[in-house]
Amino acid sequence: MVVNAYAAHEAKGELKPFQFELGALKHDQVDIKVLYCGVCHSDMSMLDNEWRSTVYPFVPGHEAVGEIIAVGAGVRHLKVGQKVGVGWTASSCLTCDDCMTGHHQMCNRAQPTIGGRHGGFADKVRVQATWAVPIPDGVDLKSAGPLFCGGITVFSPLMQHNISPLSHVGVVGIGGLGHMALAFLKAWGCEVTAFSTSPEKEEEARKLGAHNFVSTHDKDSLKKLRGSMDMVLDTVNVELEWGSYLGALKSKGILHIVGVAPKVTARVGHLMGKQKSITASPTGSPFQIKEMLKFAARHQLAPMTEHYEMGDINEAFEKLRNGKPRYRIVLEA
Ligand code: NAP
Ligand code: ZN
Repeated sequence: MVVNAYAAHEAKGELKPFQFELGALKHDQVDIKVLYCGVCHSDMSMLDNEWRSTVYPFVPGHEAVGEIIAVGAGVRHLKVGQKVGVGWTASSCLTCDDCMTGHHQMCNRAQPTIGGRHGGFADKVRVQATWAVPIPDGVDLKSAGPLFCGGITVFSPLMQHNISPLSHVGVVGIGGLGHMALAFLKAWGCEVTAFSTSPEKEEEARKLGAHNFVSTHDKDSLKKLRGSMDMVLDTVNVELEWGSYLGALKSKGILHIVGVAPKVTARVGHLMGKQKSITASPTGSPFQIKEMLKFAARHQLAPMTEHYEMGDINEAFEKLRNGKPRYRIVLEA
């Protein structure tokens, strides 16, 4: 099967039309006709070879939504015509301890949708059936793509850390991930504080779910929040003043990192006295994705998206590079 995609041939290169042959469908795989695919910051980090792992030609795209057009001989739970989404992971071994305990996203043999294979900025994408998660009624297909990477990445920490409606949670960085975190947390029932370098995002952040908005240019603002939060969820790709955010946590509070900053540093004294912790996580499992989709449908939550034709992919990446999307770009096939 020939796939028509967009590929870069070098780091930071222009994305150009690119065709490749997929070969025979394996018994546990499905082929999906891509309808929409979100543009995640990780696509850009991979395009730029920021993580030193990109293989060129490189087809990004790992927030794909589409219709199943073929199922492998061993696939029983999905059928042709069904609408599904695909996120960061395209396959996992299904037999290691991580897969067997429901942490498939941590499988040593998990293959990223855009790592050493081609992703969703294409007319078709092929994944292991486990990782093609059905989209329930009540979730709008057009804006669903970003849920499959950005959405699950900020939803999973709420499940992992048993966040309660009584929790006060801060979200650092109101971009693709951060804006979805605000909406999830509001529906979860928490007190929500947005931390942003962009004061102009305040009104929208409040509409999305923030009860409080903190402009991080104001250095004193974090001091005022000392000891007030149960969790700070960091979605930013650069290093922060970690000590200030740790200071904003209550006893046993958690600084949870999902943004890919180069490193995190902390004084042990900032953690020890009040038993605070720093944690981090990658995306989420198929089960967590399913739960998140049900939650989004029940609370009528959808990412705020801007839509471009797939052919305008370079314009979309340029906008993301400049920090301009409000808040997630979705390419339409
Ligand atoms: P994005 O849409 O570009 O948003 C990032 C936000 O970070 C920006 O909107 C901005 O928010 C803030 N920011 C940008 N530069 C900053 C700076 N110099 N200092 C402080 N804040 C800054 O990106 P995204 O798609 O949400 O992705 C965010 C990060 O998560 C990336 O590193 C991405 O690779 C990573 N990621 C990780 C996972 C995972 O599995 N852990 C999954 C998906 C993505 P304000 O304007 O509000 O300050
Ligand atoms: Zn992503």
